[in-house]
Amino acid sequence: MFIHEIINQAPSDHVAIEGDERVTYGELRNLVSLYRNQLYEMGIRRGMKVGLYSANRAEFIYVHLAVISLGAVIIPINNSLVDREVDYILKDGEASLLVTDTKLSVSIPSVDIHDLDFQARQRKASEAPAFPSDLTEDEVCAFVYTSGTTGSPKGAMLTHRNLVRNVEQFTQMVIFKPEDKILCVLPMFHCYGLTTVIHAGLMHGSTIVILRSKNPSEIINAIVEHSVTMAIMVPPMYNLLARRGEPSVMQTVHDFISGGAPIPQPVAQAFYDRFHHPVREGYGLTEASPVVSVLPSDRLKYLTVGPAIPGVEVKIVTDREGPYQPGTVGELLVRGDNVMKGYWHREEETKKVLEPDGWLHTGDLAYMDEDRFIYIVDRLKDLIIVNGENIYPGEVEDCIYEVEGVSECAVIGHPDPLRGQVVWAYVVMKEGYDFDENRIRKYLSRNLASYKIPRRFIPMDALPKNASGKILKRALRNK
Ligand code: ATP
Repeated sequence: MFIHEIINQAPSDHVAIEGDERVTYGELRNLVSLYRNQLYEMGIRRGMKVGLYSANRAEFIYVHLAVISLGAVIIPINNSLVDREVDYILKDGEASLLVTDTKLSVSIPSVDIHDLDFQARQRKASEAPAFPSDLTEDEVCAFVYTSGTTGSPKGAMLTHRNLVRNVEQFTQMVIFKPEDKILCVLPMFHCYGLTTVIHAGLMHGSTIVILRSKNPSEIINAIVEHSVTMAIMVPPMYNLLARRGEPSVMQTVHDFISGGAPIPQPVAQAFYDRFHHPVREGYGLTEASPVVSVLPSDRLKYLTVGPAIPGVEVKIVTDREGPYQPGTVGELLVRGDNVMKGYWHREEETKKVLEPDGWLHTGDLAYMDEDRFIYIVDRLKDLIIVNGENIYPGEVEDCIYEVEGVSECAVIGHPDPLRGQVVWAYVVMKEGYDFDENRIRKYLSRNLASYKIPRRFIPMDALPKNASGKILKRALRNK
């Protein structure tokens, strides 16, 4: 199967999209075909790359599928990036055209998504040729740029096989039905939302409920108004929701999935206490299309991102020789049909992460238990080393989150001439609570070894985050 074919199965009168506009599967198929005609008319051919810079909207889906159905490559771009950053990605990806919903100054031709929509809907003639019959599932159809939380963005080359298989693998663990209504609040440009909401929803004939705002009251309104049955979000959204909303409003939702970053245990607990519904945590990375693991609904355990989804292999590489001992921390490696072909134009960087036998280095430190459930400890790059002693920021952050009144926190390693690094903590308090360093220190000293206790606590009004809601530790380290 090719990724643009995911919309072909559902009955024509079944609703594919709600929220933004109401579109049936029949209308969706027609619109994608009109868009592909228009894009063909504008000169887009197989192998060309097209950048797509847009907030969550129905037209995003039409452009995405239309570009791919021409045998071209889509480059979804983070729509919080500014002109210069967008231009970097367009040049890096050698894009021929940018489709955008915002006026941007870039060095390649661009078309406004609304104009494209208008022109496409006017079209009748000039059928674009069918999808090239000699293209295989191993053809690259998307360059998905990593979110750049740890460095400059790199384009992960994802093939039809990568994307289709990852949906098939993921939806064996998270069941999608035609009657499901899937909340689409995750940004569509990020691999997480693209695969687990857009591709998974459309492939199973479900209805996608598009939401542009990440505001918690709007999330709640959308859930109520559209009787959403599945919510797939990032931890900060759960954090905000856990403090708002009547427990009854979430009753239509049968699955809450969290991924993209670790969900702090107190946040998952607070959400459960309010809504009496567990959050199933999953784990993934763009380079794996992105889903690697998710917690099964019938085997809920705390603090774990679950076992690898079917069809995905995982292993943990440690310094120790011999068979893997459960509980030993090492780097997590992933292999499967979902693993990218490589980074576009970056052979050296590709070699660093992709072994010749297909194993992908995730750059994440993890361990597995006896049941092969995975526990993400931290990113290798975020690991703090003080006087040769390893400190996992996540462990310290979890402890700070337990202090009453803490809303958010981030722990980083700050360079230190004597010790190599020292631990710093940035803390945001909830409304109505004052920042009281002594109170936090006191709590930590009862619960953590002294070498793990941050040297400095820095109060913040908010933490820097990227568009998908991940805390940008790089920005904190560069402060
Ligand atoms: P860049 O690679 O440019 O730094 P990024 O790593 O944020 O950006 P993504 O592919 O968006 O790129 O994110 C993948 C990473 O997110 C994983 O490698 C992991 O570190 C983190 N992550 C995802 N889900 C979880 C989770 N449930 N628990 C802990 N970490 C997670």
